Amino acid sequence: MHKKHNFGAGPCILPSSVMEQAAQAVINWGGMGLSILEVSHRSPEFEDVVLKTQLLVRELLSVPDHYSVLFLQGGASTQFAMVPMNFLSKGKKAAYLDTGYFAQKAIKEAKLFGEVALVASSKDKDYAYIPVDFNNDKQAAYLHCTSNNTIEGTEIFDFSTAGAPLICDMSSDIFSRKINITDFDLIYAGAQKNMGPAGMTLVIAKNEFLDQAKKEIPSMLDYRVFRDNMSMYNTPPVFSIYVAMLNLLWLKDQGGVNGIEQKNIEKAKLLYTEIDRNPLFYGTADVGHRSRMNVTFLAINKEVETGFLKFAADQGIVGIKGYRTVGGFRASLYNALPLSSVEVLVSAMASFEKIYSD
Ligand code: PLP
Repeated sequence: MHKKHNFGAGPCILPSSVMEQAAQAVINWGGMGLSILEVSHRSPEFEDVVLKTQLLVRELLSVPDHYSVLFLQGGASTQFAMVPMNFLSKGKKAAYLDTGYFAQKAIKEAKLFGEVALVASSKDKDYAYIPVDFNNDKQAAYLHCTSNNTIEGTEIFDFSTAGAPLICDMSSDIFSRKINITDFDLIYAGAQKNMGPAGMTLVIAKNEFLDQAKKEIPSMLDYRVFRDNMSMYNTPPVFSIYVAMLNLLWLKDQGGVNGIEQKNIEKAKLLYTEIDRNPLFYGTADVGHRSRMNVTFLAINKEVETGFLKFAADQGIVGIKGYRTVGGFRASLYNALPLSSVEVLVSAMASFEKIYSD
């Protein structure tokens, strides 16, 4: 059982029921006398796991039939290069929305393959907001955006679909809320926030878009190779896929993405309300652009910052130290974090206020 209130931004936190099932499968999977770690990825039992996990992704996110669901490796960071490698040809340009640290990493990689046009950036205000009307360049090969900015604590709630094919890095908010898959031509996400353990990267892509990929791509970096081989061109991350399946079954039991979205809204509202009320803290993201997954906030001075970090740690609250470029605090409210943990954090903030002002 989890004893700590884990607000860490990653790797993933999982519900304890999923941890227990995963632990059992490591010892003896389904009573087969084999560990999930030693079973052949070509066995019918594991092929069934891959199929079930793909079907769960389709069901939970309402993925239409003309989209493929792929399980790759290399994390979202490999996608930063794989996207332009497949879809940005010399003489073409790709549009990028600059909303922070990970968007910038994607931009850096894309520049290796062709021309990159920045459609908008929120750098002028330390990435505290999401620029509006960003998908307005119809000529671009694609537009790349980051739906949730894990470090800066902002989230896109309105995806404009009028422009170029939309590609989105959804690493830190996939499965946390309802999305309309057909707004996108390709979505990618490192598994390790809301899906499962690190090691697997989810890609959901429109087949018609994949068919437009450049022809000469190394096999391991060619989406079509994974599509044509049921994501098993090489040895897949067996454990990561298996635990993702368990976690997605858990999500289904929570009322699916619609059900978890309501809980996520409730958790975020509770914490932001306290941040806005408590005179010792203030939020860093503009109100209409605040992320429900990564809540970033600062203390009014260094004494409060160090004092509260220690006070919170004494109450079993871990992982709230902000990323070094933003400082202060970041509380990640991923799907598996219960409302009760947010209640503990909010009450710690209120208690600390009392102690500090006495
Ligand atoms: N994109 C976003 C939005 C992220 O939050 C992260 C990691 O936290 C990454 C990309 C990098 O992912 P990975 O570590 O899987 O390469």
